[in-house]
Amino acid sequence: MYDLLIKNGYTIDGTGSAAYRADVGVKDGDIVALGQLEGEAAKIIDAGRLVVSPGFIDLHTHSDLSFLLDPTAQSKVRQGVTFELAGNCGFSFCAPLQGAAHEMLQSRVAQYTDAFQPTWSDFGGYLDAVQRAQSTLNLAVQVGHGTVRAAVMGMDARAASGEDLEGMKALVTEGLDAGAMGFSTGLFYAPGNYARLEEVIELAAVAAARGKLYSTHMRDEGSHSVGLFVALNEAIEIGRRTGIRVQISHVKCSGPAVWGRAEDVLDLFERSRREGIDLAGDQYPYTVASTSLTGALFPRWALEGGREATLRRMAKTAERQRLHADITATFAKWSTPEGVLIARFVPDPQLEGMQVAQIAESLRCDPAEAAMRLYERAEAAVIVHAMQETDVETIASHPLIAVGSDGSSLSASGVLSVGKPHPRSYGTNPRFLARFVRQSRLVRLEEAIRKMTLLPASRLGLTRRGRIAPGFAADLVVFDPNTIADTATFEAPHSYPTGIPHVAVNGVLVIENGTFTGRTPGKVIRGFHD
Ligand SMILES: [Zn+2]
Repeated sequence: MYDLLIKNGYTIDGTGSAAYRADVGVKDGDIVALGQLEGEAAKIIDAGRLVVSPGFIDLHTHSDLSFLLDPTAQSKVRQGVTFELAGNCGFSFCAPLQGAAHEMLQSRVAQYTDAFQPTWSDFGGYLDAVQRAQSTLNLAVQVGHGTVRAAVMGMDARAASGEDLEGMKALVTEGLDAGAMGFSTGLFYAPGNYARLEEVIELAAVAAARGKLYSTHMRDEGSHSVGLFVALNEAIEIGRRTGIRVQISHVKCSGPAVWGRAEDVLDLFERSRREGIDLAGDQYPYTVASTSLTGALFPRWALEGGREATLRRMAKTAERQRLHADITATFAKWSTPEGVLIARFVPDPQLEGMQVAQIAESLRCDPAEAAMRLYERAEAAVIVHAMQETDVETIASHPLIAVGSDGSSLSASGVLSVGKPHPRSYGTNPRFLARFVRQSRLVRLEEAIRKMTLLPASRLGLTRRGRIAPGFAADLVVFDPNTIADTATFEAPHSYPTGIPHVAVNGVLVIENGTFTGRTPGKVIRGFHD
């Protein structure tokens, strides 16, 4: 007897091969049979000629904190996402918690609540807490270099000493051995930006020795014409020197200086692979990015020492002028004041959805001054118009690029329903299938599914996820390829997609007939064969 039997669907198995008619039989959380299946089942779903595919694996998320605030992860499971990899861009906010890493977590927590007290300080304790929170979907995490650096060195803008490096290595080792599935950097951000290549190589080697993934938000994605390529070569060098699998996060050509260069970026991917470096990437299907106000606009010298130090600098006329000039130059270089919008601003939610240019007008100052005045009140989350559609399409159609949201698990109700976050948290996978498969026919349906399933599973080294085959975990999505679509917009982002009636995680339905069941079968994934 099956626990779950999905009948009459078109199976797209995740490998990229053509769809075929098959029933899917599930027992004890695994796929146990495929084909024309008879027999008893505790639950039968009639897929009614819709597509049955493996659950979508989102390799690029920032859901580190989400499950501890609201474990339902509805913005993701309603898209068909059954697995998230958090701890990206160098930030594993929740662990390890020591030194300045506390401040980084608190600034993240403050976006949602003032009542949150971690009861752990190391990775093992954090992973146990997530498991106790009981999530709807499966979660794996990475150790973030920025978090580890903040824990050991604070927000100091200097090279690591031998002692610093030993301290960081010990934390990376603890995290990986407790079950983190990768090591990530955010070399674009403070404090990751303060690290030299050799520091990253030494730490990535710890992950390489354990067969784990290296994910990187590169040092530069397009602030000037060569920066993107210098940064990509840095990532390639890390792969070359350590032998690690390299995952380039949210591949993009960001800003006018590199618009139109997507082919050149992908050529470099292919060249490094021919050399034997296992490099690939992921992408969210939008021309608009999202990050923090300081991440987007503030020079890294101004962020040294953390928020209090930054505010002290801003109180001194000469430094404030220098900062003003740098922010003005940043606007000129890779976006416009009209192109930067506020996504979350706790002291004044009225500003959410407004352009920095509009806020400047109402304050009767210029946009750089407005950005500084905002930060004096609090850090903000922002949305930035940074990419061209043609580059997004070129990157989306390349076989080395997985689909990854760069968003967090959120929910349209409850503590995570606040602000006007980037709609990618709600729309990434259905949007890709609606726009790039159904409408523009840029990518074949089976290939799109591979980009959301087996490709990301193989990047992470997972042996039992991302494919419909006997012995694989029963993470499954039933969707209608003719109607699947995102509905989340920048104006109204907390909106679920359509065309996805059923989603199962580890063999348990979390979405049934389009309704959230409230079940929490998700696991913390700590090993390649989990
Ligand atoms: Zn990033």
